[in-house]
Amino acid sequence: MSKKTPPWFKYPSYHWKKQQAVVIGGGIAGCQMAWHLCEKGWQVTLIERHKALAIEASGNKAGVISPKMTALPSIGEDFYRHAFEYTLSLIKKLEDRGENIEWQASGVLQLTHNDREEKRWHALQNRNLTTDFIQLLDEQKTSEVAGICLPYKSSYFPKGAWVNPSSLTNSLANHPNCTVSFQTDALELVQNESIWQLLNHKNQLVAKSEVVIIANGKDLMSFQQSNFLPGLAVAGQTSIATASATTKKLKTVIGHEGYLTPSINGQHVFGATFERNIDDPTLNAHADKLNFTNLHSYLPNIANAFLHRKSGHTAVRMTTPDRFPYVGALPNKAFYNKTYHDLHQGKQYKQYPKAEYQTGLFVLGGLGSRGLTTSGYCANILTNLINNMLEKNQKSHLENCHPARFIINKLKRKQPPKQ
Ligand SMILES: Cc1cc2nc3c(=O)[nH]c(=O)nc-3n(C[C@H](O)[C@H](O)[C@H](O)COP(=O)(O)OP(=O)(O)OC[C@H]3O[C@@H](n4cnc5c(N)ncnc54)[C@H](O)[C@@H]3O)c2cc1C
Repeated sequence: MSKKTPPWFKYPSYHWKKQQAVVIGGGIAGCQMAWHLCEKGWQVTLIERHKALAIEASGNKAGVISPKMTALPSIGEDFYRHAFEYTLSLIKKLEDRGENIEWQASGVLQLTHNDREEKRWHALQNRNLTTDFIQLLDEQKTSEVAGICLPYKSSYFPKGAWVNPSSLTNSLANHPNCTVSFQTDALELVQNESIWQLLNHKNQLVAKSEVVIIANGKDLMSFQQSNFLPGLAVAGQTSIATASATTKKLKTVIGHEGYLTPSINGQHVFGATFERNIDDPTLNAHADKLNFTNLHSYLPNIANAFLHRKSGHTAVRMTTPDRFPYVGALPNKAFYNKTYHDLHQGKQYKQYPKAEYQTGLFVLGGLGSRGLTTSGYCANILTNLINNMLEKNQKSHLENCHPARFIINKLKRKQPPKQ
């Protein structure tokens, strides 16, 4: 039985004057959002401060599209599975329309490289999961599927893939209803009547619209309207290795603590590092060393067979305290704090009024280290919300990704004043 949505997570019905929106950020989140709105007939202006799309977190040469399993069924697993399947079918749809996306459904092998993965592997064996989604392989089968000897059991996702994110963002933005405004920054948002005005660093108007979606990666909290969202910036670097005759035999993506792609035009992508408190990372030899040492500790035969190594890409991923992204309308924080201030007293849901939001302002961000896998599905849910077309099974995912969830958690935990 599906649980009832509490009033603080309820959304209103929307009635827009025009189907016209501005999306801030030309990474995978912004491009997915733009494409999904365009598909529903909206005219979208996509604002990007760089000269090209996918320069920051989405700028990796190749990332992995793969689900995230938990030992027992969970909302998180369900979310990632939906996102995984959705993204794969979206890429195929774009290809069918003639878009040129650099990707390969090579399959993904998640190795049982530590106790946690070993336990998960055994737990997953006891579940009734279909083999076209996941196969639990022993060492011999893992090596057969990989095309190279791997001394591990694995969870094999036959539909898993790698993708070049910039080829995907370019295809998404190549929609007849989408206009991209490069080298444009939107640093401030001002609402005039019902219209949001976007101002740049010189305080000049760069765009205006009734509906604005903030999808600007690591700078998500830079607006006064979104600065209350808790987030954690985690820098990451990938490395690149020239494939040898030995490593060219690798057929699938391998997941261990990090990931390793099969040879893509003679090069493997591997990594990535996780470093907190770095806002503006630069490629560095230390991160490459960490990536190599990590890979070598699990797969020395592959690491030793690389011909030449160099740095890949570095950027900051914006992540959230519970690792679910932010997908939804931006709440009116003052209203939440006033209206739901006594939530810690445990009163019934129905005693509270419905939530209020910053009208016309939405967010898609905090995608962490899984944004290539999840952004398409998130954009689909958010587009459905904006168009009052939410599907029943998307409601729980939307609730889980609600931008006000940490305000609510805090109010629920609040200590009553001392007598
Ligand atoms: C090293 C590394 C490896 C990864 N590997 C994987 C993987 O294998 N699989 C996976 O699923 N995910 C992976 N990820 C995560 C994934 O890449 C991110 O979750 C995703 O790219 C985030 O997309 P985004 O659009 O939110 O952010 P970004 O790609 O950073 O896009 C934000 C955009 O907004 C623009 N912008 C910001 N502020 C403004 C402004 N004020 N005005 C105008 N433009 C602005 C920026 O220039 C930028 O282009 C990886 C990330 C990293 C860093």
